[in-house]
Amino acid sequence: MSTTARQIHLASRPHGWPTLDTFRMVDVALPELTEGQVLVRNTVMSVDPYMRGRMNDVKSYTPPFQLDQPLEGGAVGEVIASRSAERAVGDMVLHGSGWRSHAVLDAAATRVVDTTLAPADAYLGALGMTGLTAYAGLTAVAGFAPGDTVFVSGAAGAVGSLVGQIARLLGAARVIGSAGSAAKVAHLLELGFDAAFDYHDGSVAEQLAAAAPDGIDVYFDNVGGEHLEAAIAVMNRGGRVAMCGAISMYNSTEPPAAPRNLAQAIGKELTLRGFIIGSYQHLAGEYAQRMGAWLAADEIHVDQTTVEGLDNAPEAFLALMRGENTGKMLVSLS
Ligand code: NDP
Repeated sequence: MSTTARQIHLASRPHGWPTLDTFRMVDVALPELTEGQVLVRNTVMSVDPYMRGRMNDVKSYTPPFQLDQPLEGGAVGEVIASRSAERAVGDMVLHGSGWRSHAVLDAAATRVVDTTLAPADAYLGALGMTGLTAYAGLTAVAGFAPGDTVFVSGAAGAVGSLVGQIARLLGAARVIGSAGSAAKVAHLLELGFDAAFDYHDGSVAEQLAAAAPDGIDVYFDNVGGEHLEAAIAVMNRGGRVAMCGAISMYNSTEPPAAPRNLAQAIGKELTLRGFIIGSYQHLAGEYAQRMGAWLAADEIHVDQTTVEGLDNAPEAFLALMRGENTGKMLVSLS
């Protein structure tokens, strides 16, 4: 059976902000399956901030995307043909070949997900890499302890909205979030954050100091730059920063101006620890159990923003970078 796939390729490497011209839609004939392979029809795919880094031709923890080759990323799809004893037609599988309608994959590169327990898209969000990032970053990287005051930036996004809610469930004294609009701030308060502010409304340092009169113990950093500087300024002695992302810099062409107060880490005995979620897979089982229980008890609210159609995936990625999502940004392909 020969199948044609629609794929989105990297057409050019962006300098600064990507545009729609960064992407190109291409129809390709897929190879016949060989022994051990499956043909997957993707139904939902993820767009993520880290993909911006992979558009640059630089050495990093994940290899750069290749020009004129399909982009990659998390996706869930249905097995529609199989030459593997391990995968049956009809299985729903999680894999890393998003940005395309169909993919030929080694069965070992796929993981079966149970869509009777949770919808396919949950495995890209709260029950997937996104949720584990929030949990591992808060608990293992930042060493969260009950009674801590936690600040999270990008708080209305996929990772950030889970960080705040998990911190509350684990016994935080106070949870503070920053986000990019008044509507997002209002939403954070509905989610149970004790305080939230829009970083466009003035100095981050001043707004954070007002929201955290007793300082903060943990900062979960999704944004970097001015946010990190503000967090260092209000951190209590022994405070901990989980350096998860620095989205304020992903499209910059100049080095960041902040943080300028890093030396405060000495006197305050701060820990600033970067992490990549691939190093915390050993927490996946523990996390799945806890998140499964929280979801079953309706103790966590999961937000997502879904864009329809593979053709609109580039626009979904750009919208994510502009902050037009609340919660996890997904593209539905079905
Ligand atoms: P989000 O759902 O949070 O989407 C990105 C958000 O970033 C936007 O919605 C926007 O919200 C915000 N944003 C964009 N530009 C700026 C800016 N200049 N200043 C402040 N906020 C900005 O994405 P994810 O939850 O998937 O990712 C969050 C962070 O976590 C990213 O930095 C990402 O790279 C990182 N990450 C790291 C991982 C790791 O292993 N270390 C794994 C997964 C994610 P707003 O409206 O608030 O501006």
